[in-house]
Amino acid sequence: MRIAVVGGGIGGLCLAHGLRKAGLDVAVYERDLSRTDRLQGYRVHINPDGAAALRECLPAENWARFEQSSGTSANGFGFLTEQLKPLLVLDPDGEKHYSASRITLRQVLLDGLDVRFGKRFERYERDGAITLRFEDGTTAECDVLVGADGIGSRVREQYLPHAGTEEVGVVAVAGKLFVDDHDWVPRSLLDRANTIVPTSRCGMFLVNHDGLGYTDADGVLFDNVRPYLMWAYAANDPELREGLQETVLRRIAGWSPDLVRIVESSHPDTISQWRIRSSRPIERWESTNVTLLGDAIHAMTPMRGIGANVALRDAQLLARKLAESGIDGISAYETEMYDYGFAAVADSLRAARQFAEGSPFSRTLFRTVLRTAAAVPALKRAMF
Ligand SMILES: Cc1cc2nc3c(=O)[nH]c(=O)nc-3n(C[C@H](O)[C@H](O)[C@H](O)COP(=O)(O)OP(=O)(O)OC[C@H]3O[C@@H](n4cnc5c(N)ncnc54)[C@H](O)[C@@H]3O)c2cc1C
Repeated sequence: MRIAVVGGGIGGLCLAHGLRKAGLDVAVYERDLSRTDRLQGYRVHINPDGAAALRECLPAENWARFEQSSGTSANGFGFLTEQLKPLLVLDPDGEKHYSASRITLRQVLLDGLDVRFGKRFERYERDGAITLRFEDGTTAECDVLVGADGIGSRVREQYLPHAGTEEVGVVAVAGKLFVDDHDWVPRSLLDRANTIVPTSRCGMFLVNHDGLGYTDADGVLFDNVRPYLMWAYAANDPELREGLQETVLRRIAGWSPDLVRIVESSHPDTISQWRIRSSRPIERWESTNVTLLGDAIHAMTPMRGIGANVALRDAQLLARKLAESGIDGISAYETEMYDYGFAAVADSLRAARQFAEGSPFSRTLFRTVLRTAAAVPALKRAMF
């Protein structure tokens, strides 16, 4: 059974390790030209489920490097007013969470794999075996094709053309404040992740990341090693297109001076914008020897911070099923993945709407619920 994975991202690379560990024949095809092509991006929060998948699939030395190079993520979670008054603070859950640089994670995942770079997948043909065609005119053969090619997946476009993503109307603007330059940032914003819940139709998320980098075997240092506070403002606001920093500052005028200063003091080069997308729900399809994982099948809004963790769960499950039952294992994988994957899509979409939309009345009500939960421990336990 020759397995081809299209897409060497978080899910595809984790799957390739899992398959190799199980002694299966796997090849990864990635459109990037080299392993250092995408040296940018924010950190990704790896929760205990994602960490368990990595631990199971990766060789021991890669897992050890992941642990060494990841910060432990700010644990605990706060809901605050725009004046930084606590509405509800959730204590750390006692489990280990990681804050991984995307760049570092990619290097850790690439170590030990022979990924074919510069292979931009175009389409496949199926006639018993599968022939993959790449934009450079080359082809490859396999018996199982896994589309792990992210939110714009070409494998999905051909295999499940009715599936796909749509904009949800929410726009996010994010930036980084390098905290080693700023000693005035309130401790409560550094010690845990926080969501600001104003009564107006918008929200802000802040999380602190410590400054670990990754040096590969040749001594090359990847990633910016400075610690930073990442903030993301989101709203259903068509004007959030240009002059991003100034527009956010206009929208949050009147918020806590510390929040205004965080946005004001962030270096303009760190400011970026995302138009949030989410997968359309689809009916369960009939399983074949082509399958999908991660964002390629269930892209979700980033408002729960779980997309990569669900992609890792897919990788772990698919590796197990292919190892146990060969091609027949794809159906069992898809049945399980369909349920938890699209549940995560729906949950993340709800979170995006709650974060960035809602009438002032419903937002005031939400704040009251949070305050009540803070005052009644049994309610807090039941809700969170
Ligand atoms: C702002 C933001 C913050 C986020 N934060 C978190 C977080 O904290 N925690 C979390 O769990 N999730 C987070 N996510 C979601 C997470 O980034 C994604 O869910 C995750 O990267 C999906 O992994 P994947 O392997 O499916 O796809 P990707 O990581 O996107 O990988 C796809 C790979 O396929 C390659 N590719 C694409 N097309 C082709 C082609 N035609 N041929 C060959 N190769 C191709 C790409 O180059 C890439 O390497 C966040 C997302 C955003 C936008």
